[in-house]
Amino acid sequence: MAMDYRNIISELVDEKKQVYAEMSDAIWGFAEPRFQEFESSKIQQEYLASRGFAIKADLAGEETAFIAEYGSGKPILAFLGEFDALSSLQQEADQTERILIEGKTNGHGCHHHLLGTSAVAAVDALKAYMEENQLPGTIRYYGCPAEENAGGKAYLVRDGYFNDCDAAITWHPGTSNKTSADDGYLANFRVFFTFHGISSHAAGAPELGRSALDAVEIMDIGVNFMREHMIDAARIHGAITNSGGIAPNVIPSEAQVLYAIRAPKVTQVKKLYERMCDIAQGAALITGTTVDIRQVAAYSNVIRNETLEDVMDAHLRHFVPIGYTEEEKAYAAKFKEVITELDKEGLKNAISRIASKDEKQAVMDMSLFDFVIDKNANTGGGGSTDVGDVSWVVPTGQVSVVTCAAGTAFHSWQCVAQGKSSIAHKGMIAAAKIMACTGVDLLTKPELLESAKKDWVENLEGETYPNPLPEDVKPAIW
Ligand SMILES: [Zn+2]
Repeated sequence: MAMDYRNIISELVDEKKQVYAEMSDAIWGFAEPRFQEFESSKIQQEYLASRGFAIKADLAGEETAFIAEYGSGKPILAFLGEFDALSSLQQEADQTERILIEGKTNGHGCHHHLLGTSAVAAVDALKAYMEENQLPGTIRYYGCPAEENAGGKAYLVRDGYFNDCDAAITWHPGTSNKTSADDGYLANFRVFFTFHGISSHAAGAPELGRSALDAVEIMDIGVNFMREHMIDAARIHGAITNSGGIAPNVIPSEAQVLYAIRAPKVTQVKKLYERMCDIAQGAALITGTTVDIRQVAAYSNVIRNETLEDVMDAHLRHFVPIGYTEEEKAYAAKFKEVITELDKEGLKNAISRIASKDEKQAVMDMSLFDFVIDKNANTGGGGSTDVGDVSWVVPTGQVSVVTCAAGTAFHSWQCVAQGKSSIAHKGMIAAAKIMACTGVDLLTKPELLESAKKDWVENLEGETYPNPLPEDVKPAIW
C-alpha cells in the first residue's frame, strides 16, 4: 500500500522547518504595521520565486500584496497569508515582563508572522507533492496586507482577485486547536465622523463660536441612546481621535470621533451605520456645525463551510496533539502566570465552555492546550476578520492552532513575547501540514469541491457579496 499522503506532506514540511522558522522570526523582527509590510512581503516573495512560483505583486492599490502561483487549470486553490504587526506592542522575545525594544514601536501581537509563513510552507510542500504525483490544478499563496485596522483582503476581493478560485484555506494562530465553524465573527465598519464648527474665545465671545467638540459629545450620547434599540449581538465602540485641542478657553472648530460598528451580518452593520449618519446630522444641527463622514474600512461576516470544516478538522485531529517537551510546558507555565487578572477570568470562562465538569480542573492546570476542541463548541467570538470578505466569494475553511500559552490574550505584549518560541514554530508547522493535506484532498477529490460549493450557496441564503467598501475608498493608512 502506498504511503499515507499525510506522512509525505509531513516530511516535506519538516524538511524545511528551519527555513520557515527563520522566515517567521525575521518577519517578527521586521514588525511592520498595515500597508508597510515591505520587508515581510519581500522575504516571502523571494522565497516562493526561488521555489518556482510565479509572482504578481502590488495588487488592488496595496503595494505589499502579492500572489505566488504554481500549476495550471482548474481547480484553483487559494492559501491566505498575513504578515502585518500591531502598533505599540514592541516587546523582547521570551521575556515574561514588559521590556521594550529600543527603536521599535510595533510587535506581532496577533502572530501574523506565523500565519503567513505557515501558508507559505503549505504551498511549498503542496507544490512538491503535485509535481511528484503529476496532479493538475493551480495553487496560489495570497500575501494579504493589513488584516489589522484596514481589512486588506476586502480590496483584493473588490478587485476580483478571488473570482476564479474554487476554495480558500487559511488558519489563525491561537491558544486552542479548533476548526472554525460558526465562530461568531462579526461584520465591522470603521467610520470617521469629523465635525466642523467655528472657533472663538470661550469667555470673551462664546456666542460667536460653534463647538465641534459639543457635536462629538452629542453624537456619542445619541449613539448610546440608540444602543437600547439595536440587536443584542451588535457592538459599537468609539475613540475620540481629535478633541479639538487642549485649551479650554478656545471653542474647538474641529473634532473627530472614530467608530467601529459591528454586527453578525454586514447588512445589519449597514443599517446601524445609516442610523449613525442620521445621529451625526442631528448633532450637527443641534450645535450649528457641519459633519464629514468617511468610512475607511469594512470587514464582512464569515460564511461557514461545513465540507471544508470537516476536511480540515480531520487533519487537525491527525496532527494534534502536537507534543511538547517539559521545557516547553514550563516556558508556557511562566507566561500563564503573567497574564492579567482579567485574562485569568477569561480563561476560566473559556474552560467552562469547552471542558466538562470533571475535566475542568485538569484543563485549568495545563499550560498548553494540546488537544482539539469540538468545532461546534461556543468559544465566544465578537472579533472580526477580513477572511469574511473572501468567504462571500469563494468557499473558505479555517482552523486555529496553538502557538502560545493557555490564557494568552492576543493583541498583547505577552503574545508578542512568545512569537519566536519553539511552541510558536511547532504550531506554525502543524498548521502548514493541515492546510497542505487539505489541498491534496481538494486537488484529488472533485466531489469535495462540489460539496463545498453546495454548502457555500446554501449558507449565502440567496444573498450576494454586499461589497461593504464605498467605491471611492482606497487602501490607506489613516
Ligand atoms: Zn489576527
